[in-house]
Amino acid sequence: MQPRDEIVGLLQELVQNKCVTPPGNEMKSITTVDRFLQGYGIQAEVFESAPERGNLYAEIKGNDGPSLMLGPAHVDVVPVEDEDSWQVPPFSGEIHDGFIWGRGTFDMLFIVSCQVVTFAHLYRDGFEPNGTLKLLIVSDEETHGRFGAQWMIQHHREKVEADYLVTEIGGFPVANNRYAFQYGEKGDCWLRVTTKGKEQHGSMPFASDNAVVKLSKVIQRLAIFPQRIRTDYVKILTEKMPISRFTKWLLGKAIFMPYVLRYLERKDPAQAKLLHAISQMTISPNVTQGGTKTNVVPSRAYVDLDIRRLPGQTVDYVMDRIRHHLKSLSYDVNVELLPIPHYEPIEGNESSLNSPMISAMESVLKDIHGVKAELVPLFSPGQTDSRFFRNEFGTDAYGFSVFDDRMSGNELIAMPHSSNERVSLGTLDLTYKAYKSLVTNLLG
Ligand SMILES: [Zn+2]
Repeated sequence: MQPRDEIVGLLQELVQNKCVTPPGNEMKSITTVDRFLQGYGIQAEVFESAPERGNLYAEIKGNDGPSLMLGPAHVDVVPVEDEDSWQVPPFSGEIHDGFIWGRGTFDMLFIVSCQVVTFAHLYRDGFEPNGTLKLLIVSDEETHGRFGAQWMIQHHREKVEADYLVTEIGGFPVANNRYAFQYGEKGDCWLRVTTKGKEQHGSMPFASDNAVVKLSKVIQRLAIFPQRIRTDYVKILTEKMPISRFTKWLLGKAIFMPYVLRYLERKDPAQAKLLHAISQMTISPNVTQGGTKTNVVPSRAYVDLDIRRLPGQTVDYVMDRIRHHLKSLSYDVNVELLPIPHYEPIEGNESSLNSPMISAMESVLKDIHGVKAELVPLFSPGQTDSRFFRNEFGTDAYGFSVFDDRMSGNELIAMPHSSNERVSLGTLDLTYKAYKSLVTNLLG
């Protein structure tokens, strides 16, 4: 059997297992992976972190050299909102036109499959690492990792501690011969802003104290939040890009960023979105609620803010700035962390840009895409499980996979959580090959 057939078989089963979170029920896919590894005589350890939820760990231990982890690779996927907008049933895992389609294929079941098959083949071939090769398959990445990566760190620290790890978000073409890889990510700080009014009958609203009206002013004020722009992450991103010195200089100056964004908004909206997100704290008012009945003036209303912060911007900093900005309103507002069970704001973080792992990834990439291929470090606005490992162990954690040319960089970046999510079969071959070379390069 060819590696591709094994990867496709595994991937299809993971899609069909439909581990949509919440509730996840990922034990189904953990069992699928466990059974696959058992076929190679590998005794993986399975840990139940909650009913029907769990994680899988396996290792090939060599000498006392460094440890490299394949994963954390998550088997949970996000829900499908509109099945009718899909060209194939989203949980079928069907193959059409050289792609395997389905929810989670891209984020990140194809990586799970490639990593599991890579691990199994190295084991079969008697690979003796100069160090330790680890494999970690987890649940619950899409809803904060409490039962997945974070749970494994809390309960089996010594197993999952790693010097290096490779996971999702990497290998997207961003320019000619340039491929982005994730080395760091923003943190979050979800807040609820509440306004208070006075309940009364809605039939005589003159001079009423209406919490919803007050809230609408809060939301409008947040839309003109004065940003403090930082270009450190933009500079790192653009340094390796094939653009003129002048453009690099321009992008490196915080004062020009608003103009650059306005220009790019029309010319290249995807790039504008990215540069905006990595140069400042972002605020998106995403959920509002107020009032209970159409004929009652509401006494309470709130808006929930999805705030993403750069490293160094603490929770106190974020809350102080929001409070300060809303101070000029003529009434009190209450600003608090989102009061939902188990919510904890997460710090952003980043791994070193001088790691042997980056050199290894670059040499793998050149083998596949040619000698001109270069990696471009991407600081990501979204979050992955990597953040836990950077925080806990200082792991050099990077996103890496290798895509064929069936889709553009912009199409790939838009793929997670979208309808018609899919991965080309060629990408499976290349990513498998890349992981195998990466392991032998670092631990061979
Ligand atoms: Zn993911």
